Amino acid sequence: MSGIRLQLPTLQNWSCHSCSGCCHQHDIEITDAEKERIERQNWTPADGIPASTPAIVTTRSLLGKKRHTLGHRPDGGCVFLDDAGLCRIHAKFGEPAKPLACRVYPYAFHPAGKSVVVSLRYSCPSVVSNKGRSLDAQSDDLRRLALDVVPDSYRRLPAPDVSPQQRLDWSDFLSLVDAVDGMLAKPRVPFLMRLLCALYLVDLIGQSKFEKISGARLREFLDLVVQATEAEVTEENFPNQEPTAAGRMQFRMLTAQYARKDTHAVLARRWRNRWTLLRSAVAFAKGKGTIPILQESFGTATFSDLEGEFGSVTEEMAEIFTRYFRVKVQGLHFCGAAYYDVPFVEGFQSLALMFPVVMWLARWLAVSDNRRTLTTDDVSRALAIADHHHGYSPIFGSGSFRRRVRLLASTKEIEKLCCWYAR
Ligand code: SF4
Repeated sequence: MSGIRLQLPTLQNWSCHSCSGCCHQHDIEITDAEKERIERQNWTPADGIPASTPAIVTTRSLLGKKRHTLGHRPDGGCVFLDDAGLCRIHAKFGEPAKPLACRVYPYAFHPAGKSVVVSLRYSCPSVVSNKGRSLDAQSDDLRRLALDVVPDSYRRLPAPDVSPQQRLDWSDFLSLVDAVDGMLAKPRVPFLMRLLCALYLVDLIGQSKFEKISGARLREFLDLVVQATEAEVTEENFPNQEPTAAGRMQFRMLTAQYARKDTHAVLARRWRNRWTLLRSAVAFAKGKGTIPILQESFGTATFSDLEGEFGSVTEEMAEIFTRYFRVKVQGLHFCGAAYYDVPFVEGFQSLALMFPVVMWLARWLAVSDNRRTLTTDDVSRALAIADHHHGYSPIFGSGSFRRRVRLLASTKEIEKLCCWYAR
């Protein structure tokens, strides 16, 4: 096997449990070669493929670019999904015959200098609940898969920018990543404090000038900055401040994007959908009255319902959040090519916002079920909903979304939102 050096996240297990969620949620884009291969497989209604639904849909963008996607049944499922929730292509021709997008999910492979780091998408419920074989036990399969997705030239790709003004080589860049991961991994420190420390550390990194320090000196500098962070970020220094009205408005606008469900069926109703989204955006900006229901997971709740106390983060919830943040950080799934080419500092601020976003959505799920306390299941479901978009929906890389994140970061509202929705 070729020399791809793979680095796996240290604390994640996964196996497919055939929930078929991914075969409902995602539009599967296929290449010309995959289209030809599926056509050669000669699927007919006798195989259970609905006669009324095309197996492959080809569309053209405004610029004339062709795009092939797998067809969806009226219930939103892929045309190749059988009644038992299994893939017909896999059953008839074996796993390698499936489109690459299906074979890779929920993994993501990101070049990291001389090696390739692996991350996972938490839109898969088995990833959220850490169910299945350890990734170590699957390393040979993952290396084979990496050969299909990682370009041969990956060792020549530069590290993501640290900030718009700062660039480092891979080795120094990965020292920053290690420092943040180490902060998130601190034993016996509550999850919220670890996240606040990581935000503080990243903020200091963003203000630092690295032209004259690298290698061992950079690592010494990072040790000092980590110590300064631990001394500064204490529970006394971060009392439970309420986010400002402006901060909450920006946060709601951003959370509305995470609460959406852009499935094939929803996108097919594009114009009606746009009008609904516009009205929803106005309601989220005002933050008064009933929350517009953006997908069927949520029930009736008012904006003010979600602002009370729902109980603190339990150990089980903290385990999920710790694993999520560490997998995303170790897997570089928050900046650079894996995240809309956003620099390290801004990418981590965006990632940190996932905590209040998930807690807000979890509160909405709890209120939908007539409860005022959160369960681990609320948090798991909310994380799967939010991470479906994080790094994948184009809107999250747009100028307006990125400005919102930078504004919340510069006004220190991210820290307040983290504290506010952790109670
Ligand atoms: S091709 Fe198979 S694995 Fe891919 S979405 Fe369809 S049913 Fe699911």
